[in-house]
Amino acid sequence: MNRHATPPTEPAAGGRPPAFRGRFTRQEPIPEEGALAALAVMRSGRLHRYDVDGEDRGQASALEAEYAAWQGAPFCLAVASGGQAIQIALRAAGVRPGDVVLTSAFTLAPVPGAVTAVGAVARLVETTEDLRLDLDDLAAKAPGARAVLVSHMRGHLSDVDAVRDVARAHGLVVVEDCAHAMGARWRGLRSGNLGDVACFSTQSYKHMNSGEGGLVTAADEALMARATVLSGSYALGARHGAGPRPERLEEALWEEPNCSARMDQLRAAILRPQIAGIDARVAAWNARHNAVAGVIGAHPAVRLPARPPQESPARSSIQFALPGWGPLCAEVAARAAEMGVALKWFGASRPAGYTSAHASWRHLAPQRLPRTDAVLSDLLDMRLPLAFSLADCAHVGAIVLRAADEVARR
Ligand SMILES: *Cc1c(COP(=O)(O)O)cnc(C)c1O
Repeated sequence: MNRHATPPTEPAAGGRPPAFRGRFTRQEPIPEEGALAALAVMRSGRLHRYDVDGEDRGQASALEAEYAAWQGAPFCLAVASGGQAIQIALRAAGVRPGDVVLTSAFTLAPVPGAVTAVGAVARLVETTEDLRLDLDDLAAKAPGARAVLVSHMRGHLSDVDAVRDVARAHGLVVVEDCAHAMGARWRGLRSGNLGDVACFSTQSYKHMNSGEGGLVTAADEALMARATVLSGSYALGARHGAGPRPERLEEALWEEPNCSARMDQLRAAILRPQIAGIDARVAAWNARHNAVAGVIGAHPAVRLPARPPQESPARSSIQFALPGWGPLCAEVAARAAEMGVALKWFGASRPAGYTSAHASWRHLAPQRLPRTDAVLSDLLDMRLPLAFSLADCAHVGAIVLRAADEVARR
């Protein structure tokens, strides 16, 4: 029996599926309501978040209140980017220059970048074949650390319950990087409510899109007071929609530096109407992920990361391994590109586009991560825009398999 999926349309010359014409960087338009609200902000000229009139709380403040309610978090702070959210969260959680922060070796460059930016020392924790934190390595590296910054990279949630056990045993603060995990759940709880403080990104390629932007959520009022002052609230932190009480802000006002990382009204206006649609978009993304996974997962050379039963995922991309293929993955990506499919390989020796590996973060001390290196050297990555139909996803999956088969047969 042929275990390979059949391409959805007739093969073109040479047995290849027809080229795919979809755009892998395509974004959904901003909801009309958001576009109109942004226009109203521009017409008012009042773009700064603290430029508000008595009754009107302003867009940034309303965004904080609405996102906190959606997330089920007591406090929410809107900031300029996901990377700034991480820096502010680390500082607000008490990380000081020279402190060791444990973080995922499989992540995006702004994560170790944030650790270095606050003067802390990133100690990278190995990733498993299923793209989650290696809990044995975490426990081995925990003594002496100050915090663990769990990056749910590409939406693969680490076992936060086990991370919390390690954190409790070693007195670590748990910071979640949910830039890829907005709308995902662990044991039914939304990601972002699983640690001491969480960071989200609203940069274009995440689950909400304001071009750039970020959110910090937490339940600890004193921590959020520090975060608010750190974000650059001057003495106006009381104008936040889901912020700490004035007496808590007063304590932080004298202690924390103003790091000028506020969100403006324009971006908040664009984001507010997107909140109600997050869960539906996550479902649509998961369906696209599963459509590709269904095609490529049947191939004997392909390994898909296993999903723990506690996870309800939020996938906006797909990752798969070709175990043992190493640099041949680059050839698979090149052949897929000829057929219109954009694959990225995590094993490349230099940063390409948004993709980079720990060895290229030379602001960190070199780290020995043999397990992560082995995982990344066989790992491919593909974005799944919502504009793709399920038939597009099957087509893309068939192209991926064709590219792999061509390389295997050479
Ligand atoms: C995008 C991203 C960030 C940083 O978000 P920005 O808003 O781009 O600064 C952090 N972590 C991960 C895993 C990301 O993908």
